[in-house]
Amino acid sequence: MNADLHCHSAVSDGWLTPAEVVRRARANGAELLALTDHDEVGGVAEAAAEAAALGLGFVGGVEVSVSWGDETLHVVGLGVDAENPALCAGLAQVRSRRLARAGQMAAALEQVGLRGVLEGARRFARNPDMIGRAHFARHLVASGVARDVHSVFDHYLSRGKPGFVAHQWATLAEAVGWIRGAGGVAVVAHPARYHRMSATELDKFFNAFIAEGGEGVEVVAGAHTTDEMLRFASLARRKGLLASRGSDFHGPDESVVDVGRCNPLPPDLAPVWSRWNKLLMGVE
Ligand code: AMP
Ligand code: MN
Ligand code: MN
Ligand code: MN
Repeated sequence: MNADLHCHSAVSDGWLTPAEVVRRARANGAELLALTDHDEVGGVAEAAAEAAALGLGFVGGVEVSVSWGDETLHVVGLGVDAENPALCAGLAQVRSRRLARAGQMAAALEQVGLRGVLEGARRFARNPDMIGRAHFARHLVASGVARDVHSVFDHYLSRGKPGFVAHQWATLAEAVGWIRGAGGVAVVAHPARYHRMSATELDKFFNAFIAEGGEGVEVVAGAHTTDEMLRFASLARRKGLLASRGSDFHGPDESVVDVGRCNPLPPDLAPVWSRWNKLLMGVE
């Protein structure tokens, strides 16, 4: 089945509206989609309505930012009820701390001579409640400070660079708890992206994730090479985790993998969508 269970709309740091993301996924051949905006489920209703109109399988989703020691990791929630009060309240709290962080980032960038960055970044955040580094990066590209988003991250926004601000995100227990409480499955997003963690640390993280009730891992992710995909396929087998697959699409000009265009999962893995086959009425 052509499932894409990780993508973003302008409700967080994607470029397209939720309905546009759904239409693009459909045009690209997707059969099952989850919209997983950062720390926000405000786009799920619009995406669900458009998917229903097009006859595309759809589940509600979210990508929760998590602090683990001094690492930041992302946990995707799939099949969540976007109206669950505890989930919505938890995410609202995470977003409110994003606003404070944005002010700190702008102040730090001012120290290296970049002025007016908060106002600039805000212009790129269509949801004023969900401002993040991608919006800062787009503003800095538009104002000629760097040639593309990746080089803004490399020079200004990554850990150790002038605009990076250490931040306290949700705890692992909160993220998994909110997702499960809203009827969802918790999945570790793009595990190959946590470069600072040793294999031992990452293994410890997965054990804690499973102990909290986490059930899945993204084996196929937009950012994964084939070797990385195989590494996390074997982790899924070893730890008995459901396997997920997602593009992490943000926009036509910013993403390596288009929405609905992910590589297949190794066939022996249990796909996370086996959970919803009943709801999807026979789609496999
Ligand atoms: P935040 O949650 O505000 O820290 O922003 C994280 C987001 O920034 C990610 O979801 C990506 O959209 C973007 N991002 C992070 N690192 C990079 C990078 N090296 N190049 C381009 N975009 C990045
Ligand atoms: Mn993003
Ligand atoms: Mn992520
Ligand atoms: Mn993402």
